[in-house]
This record gives sequence, C-alpha cells and structure tokens, in this order.
Amino acid sequence: MIELDGSTGEGGGQILRSSLTLSMITGQPFHIRNIRANRAKPGLMRQHLMAVRAAATVCDAQVSHAEVGSAELSFSPRSIKGGIYEFAIGTAGSATLVLQTLIPALLHADVPSVIKVSGGTHNPKAPPAHFIEHAYVPVLRAMGAQVDFELKRFGFYPNGGGEVCAAVWPCARLAQLHLTERGTLREGRADAYVAAIPLAVAHRELESIGKGLHWRDDQLFAHPLANDQGPGNAVLIVLRSEHVTEVFSSVGEKRRRAEDVAGDAILEAKRYLISGAALGEHLGDQLMLPLALAGGGSYTLDHVSQHAITNAEVIAQFLPVHVSFEAGERYSTCTVRPQGARKDTAR
Ligand code: ATP
Repeated sequence: MIELDGSTGEGGGQILRSSLTLSMITGQPFHIRNIRANRAKPGLMRQHLMAVRAAATVCDAQVSHAEVGSAELSFSPRSIKGGIYEFAIGTAGSATLVLQTLIPALLHADVPSVIKVSGGTHNPKAPPAHFIEHAYVPVLRAMGAQVDFELKRFGFYPNGGGEVCAAVWPCARLAQLHLTERGTLREGRADAYVAAIPLAVAHRELESIGKGLHWRDDQLFAHPLANDQGPGNAVLIVLRSEHVTEVFSSVGEKRRRAEDVAGDAILEAKRYLISGAALGEHLGDQLMLPLALAGGGSYTLDHVSQHAITNAEVIAQFLPVHVSFEAGERYSTCTVRPQGARKDTAR
C-alpha cells in the first residue's frame, strides 16, 4: 500500500487525482491522508469524490472513506475495464478534471471506452474543455494514443449542467515525446463565449486581447450561447504553433470587469510567447504523467509551479521514473527518465 500525505507541496486535489490514475494503471493500492490540506475547504469536495467514484467504477476498486469532507481515503484497484460510462457531478465541479483522471487509465483498458461527464466545463483553476480538445488531446495523440473529445454543452460555475464526452482506444504503450521547441506560430485567435450575459462583455474582452497582443479584428471571435447554458462567460486565447497548440483561458466572475477577466489570459499568453518555451505551465503540468507512463521524454515550459513539482513527486511514488526540472534563462526543461538512467541517456 502506497502511503501519501495530501498536505505535501501544493497540498491540493492533484495529489489525489494523479494517485487515482496511477493506482488504476499500476494496480498498486494507496492510502492518502490530509487530503487537500492546503485548501480553504480541505478534504474531498464533490468534484474530487466524483473522480474517486469514476475511477473506482472503471476498475472495480475497493474504496473506503469516500465521503464529502473526508480527509483520508483508501483505494485498492482491480483491472481496468473499458466500456461506456456516464458520470454526473451534480454541481459545477470540473467535468474535465474527472476526464483528466480517467483518460490515461482507459488507454490501458481491454476495449475502447466512451465517457460522458456532466458538470462544469469552464471553471476557474481547471482545464477548460477547449484546452482538453486543442492542447491536451493532441499531445496524447502525438504519443500514439487515439482519443477523441467533444464539448457537448457548456457548464459554468455555479450552475454547472455542461457535458463533455471522450472516446479512448486502448494503447499498449505511449511513445516517448520530446517537445522542446514549439516551432513557428501558425495561428493566434481568441474566442469569447457568453451565455445569459450581454454580448458586450465578450466584445470588451476581445478588444482587450486585441490591444494586449496586437492582434487584428479577424483573429477575435465572439460567441453568444443559448441562455439556458448560462449565466457564464469564458475567454480563450489559442496559439497554434508548428509542433504544439496552447490554450490560455480565463473564466468570468460576478462583479469582475471584462477587461480584468481577459487580462489574466493575456498575461499567461504573453508569458508563454516571451519565454520561447514549447509549453505553458498547465500543459506542462499535465504532460508529465503521460511521459512517465511512456517511460521518458522531455519538454520546455515557461513556468515550473509548485503544482508541477508536487505532481512529479506523486508520479515517482508509483512509477520507476525520475522527473527533473532544469532552469534556463527564459524557460525551464522538464525531463522524465527511467529511474537510474544517466542524464545523457534521456533522449
Ligand atoms: P483543488 O485542490 O481545489 O482540487 P488543485 O490543486 O487540484 O485544486 P490546481 O492546482 O489549480 O487545482 O489545478 C488543477 C488542474 O487543473 C491541474 O492539472 C492544472 O494544470 C489544471 N489547470 C488549472 N488551471 C488551468 C487552465 N487555466 N488551463 C488548463 N489547465 C488548468
């Protein structure tokens, strides 16, 4: 039984989600205490609980202490079963984070799978559905995985009610990947979505992005959604380069000016553009686990967060790999290599 302390490093929900995925794949049971100890409301919240239940359903795991508010959990997996699954979070808890937990595991299933998750699709501090579609899934495909993703319906905090769907085909072994250069920028665009919120909000966000990134009007797109998908607003900046696509986003909040909402996404996009790195902070976070499953790889990223360092530590508890970060002048390099391999044998 692997023992984890959920208060280490970042002390957030990612320690649990990465552990669930890796436990399912490796068959190693784990016990975690102090779940999300560094968060304002510690313990399991509904969205984490849904990730636990979804993971348990897919591998018929034995689970104890899976309750809202629980600070500990034990998870003992059996074999991963592909098939058709539907999970409803019931709040605006992030549906994409449930998918993030399941997709790498379902690559190891016996047959293809289709997973539908309802909940929030554009939440603060979680991958928006467009990020999964345009940034995360293409990187998995570059590693040999066959994964399709579809945003069926938008869901915003606090109402939720969105739906995402993924199809995952078994893939015996992911191929290693070295994403050290993003290549030439081929397309830059921004999309602002509003549901039951004035369209002017989307236009103001896009105007800020146009000014902030010196983009033309034909790179800016406003999308009014049906009122029943709201109220909600999200803005996405998509940078499609030769070797990788990045998505920077921000989600509108009550009493927050449109210019400030757009400002968060602009800052992240600028940091990425100036750095010259292949990946931004979040894709950097999320690629580490697939690379560890592939047994190696590397990428450059614009910012190494505490979240990434903590994720690396969790991964090393389940898999015989070593994850290292090397700081350069403008960006850092993350290298995943088999445990014991020499530094110069990573490629
Ligand atoms: P909690 O404890 O509340 O569950 P957490 O610590 O798991 O939070 P975060 O560290 O904020 O949550 O990140 C959760 C996941 O969402 C990580 O995989 C992170 O890379 C991803 N993420 C957060 N914001 C974005 C974003 N804007 N775009 C893409 N991915 C994001």
